[in-house]
Amino acid sequence: MQNKTPYTIAIIGGGAAGLMASITAAKEGASVHLYEQNRAPAKKILASGNGRCNISNARLSTVDYFGEKPEFTDFCLKNFTFDQLQKFCKSIGLFLNVLEDGRAYPLSNEAKSVALSFESYAKSCGVQLFTEQTITRVEKKEATFCLHSAQNVSKEYDRVLIATGSEAAPQLGGSAQGYVIAESFGHSIVPTYPALVQLHLDSSIHEKISGAKQEAEVTLYLNGKKEQAVKGDILFTKYGISGFAILDISQKASEALLSCQRVTIGLDLLPLYDRQALSTQLLSLSQSLGTYPMATLLSGLLSIKIANALLEDAKIAPQTLAKELSIKMAKQIVSKIKDWRFEVKDTHGFKHAEVSGGGVSTAEVNEKTMESLKCKGLYFAGEVLDIVGRRGGYNFHFAWASGYLAAKEMSRA
Ligand SMILES: Cc1cc2nc3c(=O)[nH]c(=O)nc-3n(C[C@H](O)[C@H](O)[C@H](O)COP(=O)(O)OP(=O)(O)OC[C@H]3O[C@@H](n4cnc5c(N)ncnc54)[C@H](O)[C@@H]3O)c2cc1C
Repeated sequence: MQNKTPYTIAIIGGGAAGLMASITAAKEGASVHLYEQNRAPAKKILASGNGRCNISNARLSTVDYFGEKPEFTDFCLKNFTFDQLQKFCKSIGLFLNVLEDGRAYPLSNEAKSVALSFESYAKSCGVQLFTEQTITRVEKKEATFCLHSAQNVSKEYDRVLIATGSEAAPQLGGSAQGYVIAESFGHSIVPTYPALVQLHLDSSIHEKISGAKQEAEVTLYLNGKKEQAVKGDILFTKYGISGFAILDISQKASEALLSCQRVTIGLDLLPLYDRQALSTQLLSLSQSLGTYPMATLLSGLLSIKIANALLEDAKIAPQTLAKELSIKMAKQIVSKIKDWRFEVKDTHGFKHAEVSGGGVSTAEVNEKTMESLKCKGLYFAGEVLDIVGRRGGYNFHFAWASGYLAAKEMSRA
Protein backbone atom coordinates (compact mmCIF):
# COMPACT_ATOMS: atom_id res chain seq x y z
CA MET A 1 0.00 0.00 0.00
CA GLN A 2 1.31 3.43 -0.97
CA ASN A 3 2.36 5.43 2.08
CA LYS A 4 0.47 8.67 1.44
CA THR A 5 0.12 9.63 5.09
CA PRO A 6 2.80 9.45 7.76
CA TYR A 7 0.33 8.95 10.62
CA THR A 8 -0.20 6.07 12.96
CA ILE A 9 -3.87 5.80 13.77
CA ALA A 10 -5.68 3.96 16.56
CA ILE A 11 -9.35 3.19 16.16
CA ILE A 12 -11.24 2.17 19.28
CA GLY A 13 -14.21 -0.06 18.44
CA GLY A 14 -14.62 -2.66 15.71
CA GLY A 15 -18.24 -1.92 14.83
CA ALA A 16 -19.64 -0.36 11.66
CA ALA A 17 -17.97 3.04 12.17
CA GLY A 18 -14.61 1.58 13.26
CA LEU A 19 -14.45 -0.94 10.42
CA MET A 20 -15.30 1.65 7.75
CA ALA A 21 -12.81 4.10 9.28
CA SER A 22 -10.02 1.54 9.50
CA ILE A 23 -10.47 0.55 5.84
CA THR A 24 -10.58 4.17 4.69
CA ALA A 25 -7.50 5.20 6.68
CA ALA A 26 -5.54 2.12 5.59
CA LYS A 27 -6.40 2.86 1.95
CA GLU A 28 -4.99 6.35 2.50
CA GLY A 29 -1.77 4.63 3.51
CA ALA A 30 -1.97 5.13 7.28
CA SER A 31 -0.74 2.51 9.70
CA VAL A 32 -4.00 1.48 11.38
CA HIS A 33 -4.54 -0.44 14.61
CA LEU A 34 -8.15 -1.38 15.34
CA TYR A 35 -9.01 -2.24 18.96
CA GLU A 36 -12.07 -4.31 19.80
CA GLN A 37 -13.09 -5.49 23.28
CA ASN A 38 -15.08 -8.50 22.02
CA ARG A 39 -13.50 -11.71 20.71
CA ALA A 40 -14.43 -10.60 17.21
CA PRO A 41 -15.52 -7.34 15.61
CA ALA A 42 -18.96 -6.53 14.12
CA LYS A 43 -21.12 -8.20 16.76
CA LYS A 44 -23.95 -5.68 16.32
CA ILE A 45 -23.78 -6.00 12.55
CA LEU A 46 -24.27 -9.76 12.93
CA ALA A 47 -27.32 -9.29 15.16
CA SER A 48 -28.85 -6.49 13.13
CA GLY A 49 -32.05 -6.42 11.09
CA ASN A 50 -33.14 -9.79 12.52
CA GLY A 51 -29.96 -11.36 11.15
CA ARG A 52 -30.38 -9.65 7.75
CA CYS A 53 -28.67 -6.28 8.46
CA ASN A 54 -30.58 -3.29 7.16
CA ILE A 55 -27.25 -1.79 6.09
CA SER A 56 -28.51 1.62 4.88
CA ASN A 57 -31.36 3.45 3.22
CA ALA A 58 -31.47 4.90 -0.28
CA ARG A 59 -33.55 7.83 1.01
CA LEU A 60 -31.32 9.51 3.52
CA SER A 61 -31.86 12.95 4.98
CA THR A 62 -31.10 14.93 8.10
CA VAL A 63 -34.79 14.73 9.12
CA ASP A 64 -34.29 11.04 9.81
CA TYR A 65 -31.89 11.84 12.66
CA PHE A 66 -32.36 13.20 16.18
CA GLY A 67 -30.14 14.71 18.85
CA GLU A 68 -29.48 18.21 20.18
CA LYS A 69 -28.13 19.16 16.74
CA PRO A 70 -29.48 16.80 14.03
CA GLU A 71 -28.13 19.11 11.30
CA PHE A 72 -24.70 17.86 12.39
CA THR A 73 -25.36 14.89 10.06
CA ASP A 74 -25.85 17.06 6.98
CA PHE A 75 -22.27 17.36 5.77
CA CYS A 76 -21.49 13.77 6.65
CA LEU A 77 -24.47 12.36 4.70
CA LYS A 78 -23.67 14.49 1.65
CA ASN A 79 -20.02 13.54 1.81
CA PHE A 80 -20.81 9.81 1.86
CA THR A 81 -24.13 9.14 0.16
CA PHE A 82 -26.09 5.93 -0.22
CA ASP A 83 -24.77 5.58 -3.79
CA GLN A 84 -21.20 5.87 -2.53
CA LEU A 85 -21.85 3.19 0.07
CA GLN A 86 -23.43 0.91 -2.52
CA LYS A 87 -20.47 1.44 -4.88
CA PHE A 88 -18.01 0.79 -2.07
CA CYS A 89 -19.86 -2.37 -1.03
CA LYS A 90 -19.81 -3.60 -4.62
CA SER A 91 -16.06 -2.99 -4.77
CA ILE A 92 -15.58 -5.34 -1.81
CA GLY A 93 -17.88 -7.96 -3.31
CA LEU A 94 -20.94 -7.10 -1.22
CA PHE A 95 -24.05 -6.60 -3.34
CA LEU A 96 -27.11 -4.85 -1.99
CA ASN A 97 -30.82 -5.36 -2.45
CA VAL A 98 -32.73 -2.08 -2.24
CA LEU A 99 -36.41 -2.40 -1.31
CA GLU A 100 -39.14 -0.10 -2.64
CA ASP A 101 -39.21 1.94 0.57
CA GLY A 102 -35.44 2.56 0.33
CA ARG A 103 -34.22 0.05 2.92
CA ALA A 104 -31.11 -1.77 1.76
CA TYR A 105 -30.01 -5.29 2.72
CA PRO A 106 -27.18 -7.50 1.55
CA LEU A 107 -28.25 -9.51 -1.50
CA SER A 108 -27.56 -12.68 0.49
CA ASN A 109 -30.10 -11.48 3.09
CA GLU A 110 -27.53 -12.44 5.72
CA ALA A 111 -25.85 -10.01 8.12
CA LYS A 112 -22.90 -12.40 8.12
CA SER A 113 -22.06 -11.30 4.56
CA VAL A 114 -21.67 -7.71 5.74
CA ALA A 115 -19.51 -8.57 8.75
CA LEU A 116 -17.31 -10.94 6.78
CA SER A 117 -16.88 -8.57 3.82
CA PHE A 118 -15.86 -5.63 6.00
CA GLU A 119 -13.56 -7.60 8.29
CA SER A 120 -11.85 -9.44 5.42
CA TYR A 121 -11.37 -6.25 3.43
CA ALA A 122 -9.97 -4.39 6.45
CA LYS A 123 -7.40 -7.14 6.93
CA SER A 124 -6.54 -7.17 3.22
CA CYS A 125 -5.89 -3.41 3.41
CA GLY A 126 -3.36 -3.99 6.17
CA VAL A 127 -5.47 -3.01 9.18
CA GLN A 128 -4.11 -4.69 12.30
CA LEU A 129 -6.96 -5.93 14.45
CA PHE A 130 -6.49 -6.40 18.19
CA THR A 131 -9.44 -8.24 19.75
CA GLU A 132 -10.20 -8.71 23.45
CA GLN A 133 -8.59 -5.36 24.12
CA THR A 134 -10.74 -2.96 26.13
CA ILE A 135 -9.36 0.56 25.93
CA THR A 136 -9.91 2.19 29.29
CA ARG A 137 -7.86 5.36 28.98
CA VAL A 138 -6.39 7.62 26.31
CA GLU A 139 -3.62 9.87 27.52
CA LYS A 140 -2.52 12.98 25.63
CA LYS A 141 1.26 13.27 25.38
CA GLU A 142 3.03 16.23 23.76
CA ALA A 143 2.31 15.34 20.12
CA THR A 144 0.87 11.85 20.47
CA PHE A 145 -1.82 9.86 22.30
CA CYS A 146 -1.10 6.85 24.51
CA LEU A 147 -3.80 4.18 24.61
CA HIS A 148 -4.11 1.96 27.68
CA SER A 149 -6.11 -1.23 27.72
CA ALA A 150 -7.61 -3.22 30.59
CA GLN A 151 -5.34 -6.04 29.42
CA ASN A 152 -2.26 -3.90 30.23
CA VAL A 153 -1.32 -2.96 26.69
CA SER A 154 -0.11 0.62 26.14
CA LYS A 155 0.84 2.08 22.79
CA GLU A 156 1.36 5.52 21.25
CA TYR A 157 -0.36 6.90 18.15
CA ASP A 158 -0.50 10.17 16.25
CA ARG A 159 -4.28 10.21 15.98
CA VAL A 160 -7.15 8.42 17.70
CA LEU A 161 -10.74 7.71 16.65
CA ILE A 162 -13.34 6.88 19.28
CA ALA A 163 -15.89 4.58 17.59
CA THR A 164 -17.04 2.73 20.68
CA GLY A 165 -20.77 2.92 19.98
CA SER A 166 -23.35 3.34 22.73
CA GLU A 167 -24.66 1.55 25.81
CA ALA A 168 -27.40 -0.18 23.80
CA ALA A 169 -27.27 -3.99 23.78
CA PRO A 170 -24.42 -4.57 26.28
CA GLN A 171 -24.59 -8.30 25.48
CA LEU A 172 -23.25 -7.38 22.02
CA GLY A 173 -20.56 -4.99 23.26
CA GLY A 174 -22.65 -1.92 24.10
CA SER A 175 -20.64 0.17 26.52
CA ALA A 176 -20.35 3.64 28.02
CA GLN A 177 -16.54 3.53 27.91
CA GLY A 178 -16.35 5.92 24.95
CA TYR A 179 -18.17 8.60 26.94
CA VAL A 180 -15.71 8.19 29.83
CA ILE A 181 -12.76 8.66 27.47
CA ALA A 182 -14.46 11.65 25.81
CA GLU A 183 -15.14 13.23 29.21
CA SER A 184 -11.47 12.87 30.12
CA PHE A 185 -10.76 15.30 27.25
CA GLY A 186 -13.37 17.78 28.54
CA HIS A 187 -16.24 16.69 26.27
CA SER A 188 -19.82 16.97 27.50
CA ILE A 189 -22.14 14.00 27.26
CA VAL A 190 -25.78 14.63 26.40
CA PRO A 191 -27.75 12.32 28.78
CA THR A 192 -28.31 8.95 27.13
CA TYR A 193 -31.54 6.95 26.84
CA PRO A 194 -32.55 3.68 25.15
CA ALA A 195 -34.18 4.09 21.71
CA LEU A 196 -35.77 1.72 19.18
CA VAL A 197 -36.94 -0.15 22.23
CA GLN A 198 -40.09 -1.76 23.64
CA LEU A 199 -42.18 0.14 26.22
CA HIS A 200 -43.45 -0.70 29.72
CA LEU A 201 -47.07 0.23 30.37
CA ASP A 202 -48.73 1.35 33.58
CA SER A 203 -51.60 -1.11 33.26
CA SER A 204 -52.53 -4.66 34.12
CA ILE A 205 -54.13 -5.33 30.73
CA HIS A 206 -51.03 -6.08 28.68
CA GLU A 207 -50.04 -9.04 30.86
CA LYS A 208 -53.41 -10.72 30.33
CA ILE A 209 -53.19 -10.38 26.55
CA SER A 210 -49.47 -11.03 26.22
CA GLY A 211 -48.79 -12.47 22.75
CA ALA A 212 -51.72 -10.71 21.04
CA LYS A 213 -50.75 -8.88 17.84
CA GLN A 214 -52.62 -6.29 15.80
CA GLU A 215 -52.00 -3.81 12.99
CA ALA A 216 -52.68 -0.41 14.51
CA GLU A 217 -52.00 3.29 14.41
CA VAL A 218 -50.08 4.36 17.49
CA THR A 219 -50.26 7.99 18.60
CA LEU A 220 -47.74 9.31 21.08
CA TYR A 221 -48.80 12.06 23.50
CA LEU A 222 -46.29 13.99 25.58
CA ASN A 223 -47.84 15.83 28.54
CA GLY A 224 -51.20 15.33 26.81
CA LYS A 225 -50.09 16.87 23.49
CA LYS A 226 -50.00 14.80 20.29
CA GLU A 227 -46.38 14.33 19.20
CA GLN A 228 -46.28 11.58 16.59
CA ALA A 229 -48.49 8.97 14.91
CA VAL A 230 -47.22 5.80 13.26
CA LYS A 231 -48.93 2.84 11.58
CA GLY A 232 -47.57 -0.67 11.96
CA ASP A 233 -47.86 -3.80 14.02
CA ILE A 234 -48.07 -3.87 17.81
CA LEU A 235 -47.54 -6.82 20.10
CA PHE A 236 -48.72 -6.94 23.73
CA THR A 237 -46.13 -8.54 26.03
CA LYS A 238 -45.75 -9.44 29.70
CA TYR A 239 -43.91 -6.18 30.42
CA GLY A 240 -45.88 -3.87 28.10
CA ILE A 241 -45.88 -3.43 24.38
CA SER A 242 -43.61 -4.10 21.41
CA GLY A 243 -43.82 -4.24 17.59
CA PHE A 244 -42.46 -2.02 14.81
CA ALA A 245 -44.94 0.82 15.41
CA ILE A 246 -43.83 0.95 19.04
CA LEU A 247 -40.12 0.93 18.14
CA ASP A 248 -40.85 3.81 15.78
CA ILE A 249 -42.29 6.05 18.49
CA SER A 250 -39.87 4.86 21.19
CA GLN A 251 -37.12 7.42 20.59
CA LYS A 252 -39.38 10.37 21.37
CA ALA A 253 -41.14 8.44 24.18
CA SER A 254 -37.87 7.47 25.85
CA GLU A 255 -36.35 10.94 25.54
CA ALA A 256 -39.52 12.40 27.08
CA LEU A 257 -39.41 9.92 29.99
CA LEU A 258 -35.84 11.05 30.65
CA SER A 259 -37.09 14.61 31.10
CA CYS A 260 -39.96 13.39 33.35
CA GLN A 261 -42.74 14.21 30.88
CA ARG A 262 -46.04 12.32 31.00
CA VAL A 263 -45.93 9.80 28.16
CA THR A 264 -49.15 8.27 26.85
CA ILE A 265 -49.94 6.16 23.82
CA GLY A 266 -53.29 5.94 22.07
CA LEU A 267 -53.94 2.81 20.00
CA ASP A 268 -56.28 2.91 17.04
CA LEU A 269 -56.87 -0.80 16.48
CA LEU A 270 -58.87 -0.32 13.29
CA PRO A 271 -57.36 2.69 11.52
CA LEU A 272 -59.24 1.94 8.30
CA TYR A 273 -62.66 2.46 9.95
CA ASP A 274 -64.07 5.75 11.20
CA ARG A 275 -65.97 5.91 14.46
CA GLN A 276 -69.39 6.42 12.93
CA ALA A 277 -69.07 3.53 10.45
CA LEU A 278 -67.81 1.24 13.18
CA SER A 279 -70.62 2.15 15.56
CA THR A 280 -73.27 1.64 12.88
CA GLN A 281 -71.71 -1.69 11.92
CA LEU A 282 -71.65 -2.93 15.52
CA LEU A 283 -75.25 -1.92 16.20
CA SER A 284 -76.41 -3.60 13.02
CA LEU A 285 -74.53 -6.84 13.77
CA SER A 286 -75.83 -6.81 17.34
CA GLN A 287 -79.33 -7.14 15.89
CA SER A 288 -78.59 -9.84 13.30
CA LEU A 289 -76.29 -11.82 15.63
CA GLY A 290 -78.08 -10.96 18.87
CA THR A 291 -77.39 -14.26 20.64
CA TYR A 292 -73.61 -13.88 20.29
CA PRO A 293 -71.63 -12.84 23.36
CA MET A 294 -70.10 -9.38 22.74
CA ALA A 295 -66.55 -10.83 22.69
CA THR A 296 -67.53 -13.19 19.86
CA LEU A 297 -69.13 -10.32 17.97
CA LEU A 298 -65.85 -8.38 18.16
CA SER A 299 -63.68 -11.37 17.33
CA GLY A 300 -64.24 -10.82 13.61
CA LEU A 301 -62.63 -7.41 13.94
CA LEU A 302 -59.96 -7.89 16.58
CA SER A 303 -57.86 -10.66 18.07
CA ILE A 304 -60.13 -12.45 20.58
CA LYS A 305 -57.67 -11.82 23.44
CA ILE A 306 -57.71 -8.12 22.63
CA ALA A 307 -61.52 -8.08 22.26
CA ASN A 308 -61.98 -9.59 25.74
CA ALA A 309 -59.56 -7.18 27.40
CA LEU A 310 -60.99 -4.18 25.61
CA LEU A 311 -64.55 -5.03 26.72
CA GLU A 312 -63.36 -5.51 30.27
CA ASP A 313 -61.61 -2.15 30.16
CA ALA A 314 -64.82 -0.58 28.80
CA LYS A 315 -66.58 -2.12 31.82
CA ILE A 316 -68.73 -4.40 29.62
CA ALA A 317 -68.82 -8.09 30.52
CA PRO A 318 -67.51 -10.07 27.50
CA GLN A 319 -70.43 -12.51 27.90
CA THR A 320 -73.03 -9.75 27.50
CA LEU A 321 -75.32 -10.76 24.66
CA ALA A 322 -74.98 -8.72 21.50
CA LYS A 323 -78.68 -7.89 21.47
CA GLU A 324 -78.19 -5.94 24.71
CA LEU A 325 -75.79 -3.52 22.99
CA SER A 326 -77.04 0.03 23.50
CA ILE A 327 -75.93 3.11 21.57
CA LYS A 328 -73.99 4.23 24.66
CA MET A 329 -72.22 0.85 24.97
CA ALA A 330 -71.42 0.87 21.25
CA LYS A 331 -69.85 4.31 21.69
CA GLN A 332 -67.81 3.07 24.66
CA ILE A 333 -66.47 0.12 22.65
CA VAL A 334 -65.72 2.20 19.57
CA SER A 335 -63.97 4.77 21.71
CA LYS A 336 -61.62 2.07 23.05
CA ILE A 337 -61.07 0.54 19.60
CA LYS A 338 -60.18 3.92 18.08
CA ASP A 339 -58.23 5.43 20.96
CA TRP A 340 -57.21 2.92 23.62
CA ARG A 341 -55.00 4.90 25.99
CA PHE A 342 -52.09 3.57 28.03
CA GLU A 343 -49.62 5.43 30.22
CA VAL A 344 -46.00 4.56 29.48
CA LYS A 345 -43.96 4.24 32.65
CA ASP A 346 -40.58 3.11 31.30
CA THR A 347 -38.72 1.52 28.40
CA HIS A 348 -37.53 -2.08 28.28
CA GLY A 349 -34.01 -0.72 28.87
CA PHE A 350 -30.62 -0.57 27.15
CA LYS A 351 -30.34 -4.37 27.10
CA HIS A 352 -33.22 -4.58 24.62
CA ALA A 353 -32.66 -1.30 22.78
CA GLU A 354 -31.22 -1.24 19.27
CA VAL A 355 -29.65 2.16 19.78
CA SER A 356 -29.13 4.93 22.28
CA GLY A 357 -30.05 8.59 22.12
CA GLY A 358 -27.67 11.13 23.63
CA GLY A 359 -23.90 10.77 23.67
CA VAL A 360 -20.89 12.97 22.96
CA SER A 361 -22.21 16.49 22.35
CA THR A 362 -22.01 17.36 18.65
CA ALA A 363 -21.54 21.03 19.61
CA GLU A 364 -17.97 20.08 20.55
CA VAL A 365 -17.09 18.14 17.39
CA ASN A 366 -16.30 19.60 13.95
CA GLU A 367 -19.06 18.30 11.64
CA LYS A 368 -16.86 18.65 8.56
CA THR A 369 -13.99 16.56 9.95
CA MET A 370 -15.35 14.67 13.02
CA GLU A 371 -12.40 16.08 14.96
CA SER A 372 -12.81 17.05 18.60
CA LEU A 373 -12.99 20.80 19.17
CA LYS A 374 -11.41 20.16 22.57
CA CYS A 375 -8.35 18.19 21.49
CA LYS A 376 -6.55 18.17 18.14
CA GLY A 377 -5.95 14.70 16.76
CA LEU A 378 -8.90 13.13 18.58
CA TYR A 379 -11.90 12.11 16.43
CA PHE A 380 -15.37 10.57 16.90
CA ALA A 381 -17.63 8.48 14.67
CA GLY A 382 -20.86 6.52 14.93
CA GLU A 383 -23.30 6.04 17.73
CA VAL A 384 -20.98 7.36 20.45
CA LEU A 385 -22.06 10.80 19.20
CA ASP A 386 -25.34 12.47 20.18
CA ILE A 387 -27.04 11.33 16.98
CA VAL A 388 -29.72 8.68 16.70
CA GLY A 389 -31.54 7.68 13.54
CA ARG A 390 -34.93 6.28 12.71
CA ARG A 391 -35.41 2.57 12.14
CA GLY A 392 -34.67 1.62 8.54
CA GLY A 393 -30.88 1.55 8.05
CA TYR A 394 -30.28 5.15 9.12
CA ASN A 395 -28.15 4.28 12.14
CA PHE A 396 -25.79 2.12 10.15
CA HIS A 397 -25.50 4.74 7.44
CA PHE A 398 -24.45 7.39 9.94
CA ALA A 399 -21.84 4.98 11.31
CA TRP A 400 -20.43 4.22 7.83
CA ALA A 401 -20.52 7.88 6.74
CA SER A 402 -19.02 9.37 9.90
CA GLY A 403 -16.34 6.65 10.03
CA TYR A 404 -15.44 7.38 6.42
CA LEU A 405 -15.29 11.16 6.97
CA ALA A 406 -13.23 10.90 10.15
CA ALA A 407 -10.73 8.51 8.56
CA LYS A 408 -10.23 10.69 5.46
CA GLU A 409 -9.53 13.68 7.69
CA MET A 410 -7.30 11.77 10.12
CA SER A 411 -5.15 10.58 7.24
CA ARG A 412 -4.69 14.12 5.89
CA ALA A 413 -1.08 15.18 6.35
C1 LIG B 1 -30.24 -6.00 17.76
C2 LIG B 1 -29.86 -4.79 16.94
C3 LIG B 1 -30.32 -4.68 15.63
C4 LIG B 1 -29.99 -3.55 14.86
N1 LIG B 1 -30.39 -3.48 13.57
C5 LIG B 1 -30.06 -2.41 12.81
C6 LIG B 1 -30.39 -2.35 11.44
O1 LIG B 1 -30.91 -3.31 10.86
N2 LIG B 1 -30.07 -1.20 10.75
C7 LIG B 1 -29.43 -0.13 11.35
O2 LIG B 1 -29.17 0.89 10.69
N3 LIG B 1 -29.06 -0.20 12.64
C8 LIG B 1 -29.34 -1.30 13.37
N4 LIG B 1 -28.93 -1.36 14.68
C9 LIG B 1 -28.14 -0.24 15.22
C10 LIG B 1 -26.67 -0.38 14.73
O3 LIG B 1 -26.21 -1.67 15.06
C11 LIG B 1 -25.78 0.68 15.40
O4 LIG B 1 -26.33 1.96 15.20
C12 LIG B 1 -24.38 0.62 14.80
O5 LIG B 1 -23.83 -0.65 15.04
C13 LIG B 1 -23.50 1.69 15.40
O6 LIG B 1 -22.19 1.51 14.92
P1 LIG B 1 -20.92 1.96 15.79
O7 LIG B 1 -19.74 1.49 15.04
O8 LIG B 1 -21.03 3.38 16.13
O9 LIG B 1 -21.07 1.15 17.14
P2 LIG B 1 -21.02 -0.43 17.37
O10 LIG B 1 -21.46 -1.17 16.19
O11 LIG B 1 -21.73 -0.64 18.67
O12 LIG B 1 -19.48 -0.73 17.56
C14 LIG B 1 -18.75 -0.29 18.66
C15 LIG B 1 -17.73 -1.35 18.95
O13 LIG B 1 -16.83 -0.83 19.94
C16 LIG B 1 -16.50 -1.85 20.85
N5 LIG B 1 -16.06 -1.17 22.08
C17 LIG B 1 -16.80 -0.41 22.93
N6 LIG B 1 -16.02 0.09 23.90
C18 LIG B 1 -14.78 -0.36 23.67
C19 LIG B 1 -13.52 -0.17 24.34
N7 LIG B 1 -13.43 0.59 25.43
N8 LIG B 1 -12.42 -0.78 23.83
C20 LIG B 1 -12.50 -1.56 22.70
N9 LIG B 1 -13.65 -1.77 22.03
C21 LIG B 1 -14.78 -1.16 22.51
C22 LIG B 1 -17.79 -2.63 20.99
O14 LIG B 1 -17.55 -3.93 21.46
C23 LIG B 1 -18.31 -2.60 19.56
O15 LIG B 1 -17.87 -3.70 18.81
C24 LIG B 1 -29.21 -2.50 15.45
C25 LIG B 1 -28.75 -2.63 16.75
C26 LIG B 1 -29.05 -3.76 17.49
C27 LIG B 1 -28.51 -3.89 18.89
